[in-house]
Amino acid sequence: MITEILKIKDVNKDREKIKKAARKIREGGLVVIPTETVYGLGASALNPIAVKNIFKAKGRPQDNPLIVHLSDISGLDKVCKDIPDSAYRLFERFSPGPLTVVLKRKDIIPDIVSAGLESIAVRIPSSIIAREIIKESGVPVAAPSANISGKPSPTTAQHVISEMTGRVDIIVDGGPCDVGVESTVISLLGEKPILLRPGGITKDELQSVLGDIDVSRSVLSKLND
Ligand code: AMP
Ligand code: MG
Repeated sequence: MITEILKIKDVNKDREKIKKAARKIREGGLVVIPTETVYGLGASALNPIAVKNIFKAKGRPQDNPLIVHLSDISGLDKVCKDIPDSAYRLFERFSPGPLTVVLKRKDIIPDIVSAGLESIAVRIPSSIIAREIIKESGVPVAAPSANISGKPSPTTAQHVISEMTGRVDIIVDGGPCDVGVESTVISLLGEKPILLRPGGITKDELQSVLGDIDVSRSVLSKLND
């Protein structure tokens, strides 16, 4: 596969490149996009073949679900159902930004995106380049970190280019990522919110909106490593 590299500095001046990347996503291709956390390996979350290609390109086991990225909150009820008020409060306070919320999945999202789970992880990135590409594509974008499975998540385009050239259609170079750590993942599926992965938003910040939250055992065991 030939990989095209698109350097984007200014979303207005580089509009044609935004459109090109968005078109590729809409058509079922693989596009690496910069976000404020790490670079993401994106494809249309509505296209099961494209999503399967994400797993192949990363060498990621298909039992590890992906995060679906939206350009703004208006897309939330297209991909999730039974959304609790607490989700809107969280998004209002921390989005766009490094927060991922796990909610109930609508059938429009194919099983492969969430590894067969009834749920879906959703995030609105603050990177303006990411949001403009997602908005222009017209689809929700499934995107794990743009590294080969087991390697560190990339925070620069150079890192992505050295690892992903030949494995994806387009790499968008938007410069270094601002936050540089992954998004915090929180589940709102049960009675009490559960922190599934620590990241850019702290537990205290989440508790300021949600009250007391639980921390998943896998997180606690990692913290104790
Ligand atoms: P990455 O793709 O590397 O950013 O990792 C995505 C993270 O989100 C992983 O820790 C996944 O386990 C988590 N995740 C994605 N979807 C779900 C879901 N439906 N339920 C719980 N965790 C999820
Ligand atoms: Mg990752």
